[in-house]
Amino acid sequence: MSNFVWCHGPSCHKSHTQDRIRGVKGSKVLRTKKVKQDQYNSGERLSMYSYFCSQGCYNDFANTYVREVIALHPRTEALETPIEVTKVQDTYWNNETYMRTEIKTVDNNGG
Ligand SMILES: [Zn+2]
Repeated sequence: MSNFVWCHGPSCHKSHTQDRIRGVKGSKVLRTKKVKQDQYNSGERLSMYSYFCSQGCYNDFANTYVREVIALHPRTEALETPIEVTKVQDTYWNNETYMRTEIKTVDNNGG
């Protein structure tokens, strides 16, 4: 028994590749690819590769359904990450010194 889902790319079945060809002579079709569910793309490793056969199919899906996806998780205000900015002296490969800016994330939640 194989465990798979059909690729969710809206145009997956239109790509001209040999591995999509199904049927007998005279009634052949290009079919949506199967996405095998295995240890690399299921369970805790669930990702876009669990539902799409390729980056191209994922991009097609995202571009086709972007309004619906954004409607599910709208961003109505900017997010912020508390940081601490310091100047740190560092050295180049030739021992010449320079100042660089170091940005550290600050945990303001008492953690
Ligand atoms: Zn696909």
